[in-house]
Amino acid sequence: MLIKHMVFGPIETNCYLVACEETLEAFVIDPDIREEREKEEILGEINLRKLRLRYIINTHYHADHTGGNSMLKKATGAEILIHELDAPFLPEPWKIMSEIIRLHKEPPCPFCGYEMAYLDILKEQGKAIMGCNACDFKFEMLASPPADRLLHHGDVVKVGQLELKVIHTPGHSPGGISLYVEKENALFSGDTLFNQSIGRTDLIDGSFEDIIESVKELIKLPEATIVYPGHGEKTTIGKEKRENPYLQPTSGSGGKREEN
Ligand SMILES: [Zn+2]
Ligand SMILES: [Zn+2]
Ligand SMILES: [Zn+2]
Repeated sequence: MLIKHMVFGPIETNCYLVACEETLEAFVIDPDIREEREKEEILGEINLRKLRLRYIINTHYHADHTGGNSMLKKATGAEILIHELDAPFLPEPWKIMSEIIRLHKEPPCPFCGYEMAYLDILKEQGKAIMGCNACDFKFEMLASPPADRLLHHGDVVKVGQLELKVIHTPGHSPGGISLYVEKENALFSGDTLFNQSIGRTDLIDGSFEDIIESVKELIKLPEATIVYPGHGEKTTIGKEKRENPYLQPTSGSGGKREEN
């Protein structure tokens, strides 16, 4: 299995281009491709290695994981796969943010900590701009084409000789998934399990109880499993089992959660 790790987008999202080395069939996990140079980087890699991109798999619907769906699908014809519970958000990933603002539960700006100041929905342009008036934070949420295939817990996605097992890991979002490639000892954990942390659950569709249950399921995998998260450095199941502050019986919730 070939894994090319790239970091794209304003929230530094990990994007993984993964291929079966025998058949050169490939998939991409969580492309937040917005700029021409990012597009050239991933397409260059696909062309250089003569890969056939079959799937774009989103671990969840958040705009920092789906921003490149449209561009990558247009360029390669790959199908978009996402869990059925997150699929409805793809064409309007800003919906949850507008709901939060409607309910006056404004999430703090990830940079300066002030309340999120505006959300401009430009539906005809296929995007919304979320930003803060107190600092320069500005984040474009790009619409994705609808899903081509809906995923469910226990599904197996075959890419060449690779078998990706879908593990439903809700909490960060209702339809969050992790993808386990048992033969290769690899787990793509999205924003559920991070190196020494877990994903945020303070958006209105998040659940702290659910994410803890999800992470407890993931750490049942073999300790040598390499974890490729949605943000930050890779880790292993064994290390997280021993050191992740959210899994320790004494502290429970002592660590700092990622703001993605
Ligand atoms: Zn997320
Ligand atoms: Zn700010
Ligand atoms: Zn994220």
